[in-house]
Amino acid sequence: MIKLVFATNNLNKLKEVQALIPKHIKLLSLKDIGCFEDIPETQNTIEGNAIQKANYIKTHYGYDCFADDTGLEVEILNGEPGVYSARYAGKQRDANDNMDKLLFKLKDKTNRKAQFKTVIALHLGGELKTFTGICKGKITYTIQGTKGFGYDPIFKPNNYNQTFAEMDLSLKNKIGHRGKAVSQLVQFLKIK
Ligand code: IMP
Repeated sequence: MIKLVFATNNLNKLKEVQALIPKHIKLLSLKDIGCFEDIPETQNTIEGNAIQKANYIKTHYGYDCFADDTGLEVEILNGEPGVYSARYAGKQRDANDNMDKLLFKLKDKTNRKAQFKTVIALHLGGELKTFTGICKGKITYTIQGTKGFGYDPIFKPNNYNQTFAEMDLSLKNKIGHRGKAVSQLVQFLKIK
């Protein structure tokens, strides 16, 4: 049995990842280890933030752990909002405000290409490894769907006619950025 802390307070993410992790790996939440403070995310890359969060848990709590960081990168905006996805429209970190801001910025743009990128940083047995998952798609013109979270209602993955917010979680996990990064993590853990 491998015990691993998933350094997140986002219950949606915990649910998504738990569904993908094999049973011999027991996931502990931040609450399970008594971590209630905000973990710093002050780097200027998605990868840097994932590593910073994993390092924080390892240093302050001593657990093997993994942390993820995700950003939505829009081609015509040179990768914006990227590492700033959570607070794109301000400190309130509100998903609707963030989507409204992005839709407004793209209102006259026909190039709607975007990608979600997730980086997972894993501390295990004294080693640090990263796994990257990318899902390419397009930003819609309107909000569509009520499932999921964050930017899901305005992101349509390539080859699908639904936004992430109109899909079942199992399909999002199969084709999505986080699912891809997590399956690399899981493959790696299987050979451990
Ligand atoms: P974080 O790295 O998970 O904190 O995410 C950064 C930002 O991207 C937040 O605004 C999230 O709501 C958003 N985000 C992260 N993952 C997803 C996703 O799978 N779908 C839609 N938005 C996401």
